[in-house]
Amino acid sequence: MNTLTSQQLFEKAQHYIPGGVNSPVRAFRAVGGSPVFIKSAKGPYIYDEDGNEYIELINSWGPMILGHAHELIQKAVQDAIQHSFSFGAPTRREVEMAEQIVSMVPSIEKVRMVNSGTEATMSAIRVARGFTGRDKIIKFEGCYHGHGDSFLIAAGSGAVTFGTPDSPGVTRGVANDTLTAPYNDLNAVQQLVDANKNHIAALILEPVVGNMGCVLPEEGFLQGLRKICDEEGIVLILDEVMTGFRLSKGGAQERFGITPDLTTLGKIIGGGMPVGAYGGKAEIMNWVSPAGPVYQAGTLSGNPIAMAAGLAMLNYLNEHPEVYTRLEEAGKRLASGFRTSMQKLGLNYTLNQIGSMYTLFFTDQPVTDFSAAKSSDLILFGKYFHAMLNKGIYMGPSQFESMFLSTALTDGHIDTIVSANEESLKEIL
Ligand code: PLP
Repeated sequence: MNTLTSQQLFEKAQHYIPGGVNSPVRAFRAVGGSPVFIKSAKGPYIYDEDGNEYIELINSWGPMILGHAHELIQKAVQDAIQHSFSFGAPTRREVEMAEQIVSMVPSIEKVRMVNSGTEATMSAIRVARGFTGRDKIIKFEGCYHGHGDSFLIAAGSGAVTFGTPDSPGVTRGVANDTLTAPYNDLNAVQQLVDANKNHIAALILEPVVGNMGCVLPEEGFLQGLRKICDEEGIVLILDEVMTGFRLSKGGAQERFGITPDLTTLGKIIGGGMPVGAYGGKAEIMNWVSPAGPVYQAGTLSGNPIAMAAGLAMLNYLNEHPEVYTRLEEAGKRLASGFRTSMQKLGLNYTLNQIGSMYTLFFTDQPVTDFSAAKSSDLILFGKYFHAMLNKGIYMGPSQFESMFLSTALTDGHIDTIVSANEESLKEIL
């Protein structure tokens, strides 16, 4: 495969941009080689600067649930652009967007739009702290909640990929206020809570983790957390930046029947534009300025173009429940294909899959937490990644990421991915 133009662009990029990229995982550092530079994408395909075509499994790390350049969203953006790009003033669409989110996610009574998932999680813990008058938060090892200071403690995604789960630059004071527990370990959470009585403002987690690779909550884990939070007056925040509108119309909370106090959203709600949101109980959200004293603002928040794209996306998802049926079928087809191949090849790697999210971990251990995810053979993953890329499958370049299926993938595409997977496994062993 010729990727010369990408290589040249990366050379140049490194002169001007730290590490040559605007978000670390894009650099292919964990898997070796030079990243492919993307020129365009349509439906299930993405094209690089050298004209190579790949089947998409990154989908912009989640937002492109309908595949790329969906006509409805394209049209909504084109229409909105006619009326200028930003006003810094309230608009009708923001109200429609808030109404749509509230109607699709029943635990959300009030919602504030921001510009990224990071802003959403940072703001959610600020309001939880304001509301409770407490300082500390609990997060889980390997969960990633964006690059806010409080979350770069035992963080997943790019932070672990680059060996910096605890980032330099985060003050000791902030780090001391972030307590961490292993995912799926209710006892560890209870111990932290007992040792910090009346000091914990919020517990935040990915209800299904995408950022240590795909990791599912064990039976009773989410309900157990809800119970602890209720007993201790702790604000339960579900970070559904990845899972929101993906694992079902109402996100992971609908799928697992758990009601958080606050929810953070991003990715899909922008239809590919930079959008985030946080919302939940009115009692808590009424602490946000100007309704209440907790300050949070944004020049571009509720940006009209982003709202147009996001609203078109949410309206579509709301009116087309078959999207979720299709994503379930596609996920099952892929998982069953991968499992058949592994059986054939006598391999016992762990495949975690739920709906349209999955990760193949290069370890035989069941992966239910961060330490199990880290037992994966990262060298082997790197070889697998390149074998897949050479067969035209564009995957996240790290073991600690989830892949995302879109409705643009037909059964034919899924079968192509399954064959590429089998061939790649044969090649690397
Ligand atoms: N929360 C979760 C669960 C995420 O997966 C991410 C990003 O991948 C974020 C928060 C941060 O979102 P953003 O990258 O839009 O700031």
